[in-house]
Amino acid sequence: MPERIEGVAISHPERVIFADAGPGKAGLTKAGLARYYQQVAPLMLQEAADRPLSMLRLPEGMAGERFFQKHPGKGFPKPVKQMQITESDGEAAPYAYVTDAAGLVAAVQMGTVEFHIWAARRDRLERPDRLVFDLDPDEGLGFAAVRAAALALRGRLRDLGLDPWAMLTGGKGVHLVVNLRRNLGWDELKHFAHGFATLCARDEPDRYTVALSKASRKGRIFIDWLRNERGATAVAPFSVRARPGAPVAAPLGWDELTETETARAIDIDMALKRGWAGIDRRPQTLTRPMVEALDKALAE
Ligand code: ATP
Ligand code: MN
Repeated sequence: MPERIEGVAISHPERVIFADAGPGKAGLTKAGLARYYQQVAPLMLQEAADRPLSMLRLPEGMAGERFFQKHPGKGFPKPVKQMQITESDGEAAPYAYVTDAAGLVAAVQMGTVEFHIWAARRDRLERPDRLVFDLDPDEGLGFAAVRAAALALRGRLRDLGLDPWAMLTGGKGVHLVVNLRRNLGWDELKHFAHGFATLCARDEPDRYTVALSKASRKGRIFIDWLRNERGATAVAPFSVRARPGAPVAAPLGWDELTETETARAIDIDMALKRGWAGIDRRPQTLTRPMVEALDKALAE
């Protein structure tokens, strides 16, 4: 029997999506996942509403196939809204976005587990409003190294005049995020992000890298600054991850991060309880003097 959640008919509500999560870790069902997104919507939509998004879909749950979907298809339900966006090749293509809990729940009905968002909102697509650094540890590097890197990079960003917040990805790493005023375009954002990552890797080459090749990452943390490009995505805060135990991509205050041992520390119940506690999402301004200070340091 379908079950209605947030006005959306959920087919196969009892289907187990995660065998190792949910009540008593006895299984998180499709209805359970839909109810999580219904409940977390007021928190999650603060950041994820009205942005082009990609979805990681696992219609049969963790045991089945998965696919990352960038463009919505014809059969998409109404609450998952659609817009046309002109891509870099000049062609327009459909993108999905949500504005309400029904949109998130309708996406779950289609098998969505993860939500990934653009760094711009749909009313001004050429004016990004998030700066994101994705810290990816090389295999073998523990979370302590990621945590230390997150704190160190926070310090370096603060020296430049920006103060990021941290998010456990629910996977291996941490994202540093600065909510921005929409005064700059993609080229300027990308220039700053690339410059910052490059400077960090140049100053501490044994610790960080910006090289894409796996070989050059050995024992280092890859600072992925490419999340800051038009069309790129980063996992949305409060998204569940399609990884064992259904961990959540969870914003975390800096004092709490120092006491956290894994990027998978927050589950759906904890995420709902914690919300945005300890996080300052007030938009900051990436100014021309900041860009100049960075360029100057790079030229030295
Ligand atoms: P982790 O901490 O495990 O690295 P993560 O969310 O940062 O978790 P990454 O593999 O580093 O995962 O990916 C960075 C981002 O790239 C993702 O958050 C997602 O938005 C985007 N991404 C991941 N897979 C794809 C894909 N198949 N196609 C397009 N973008 C993707
Ligand atoms: Mn990552």
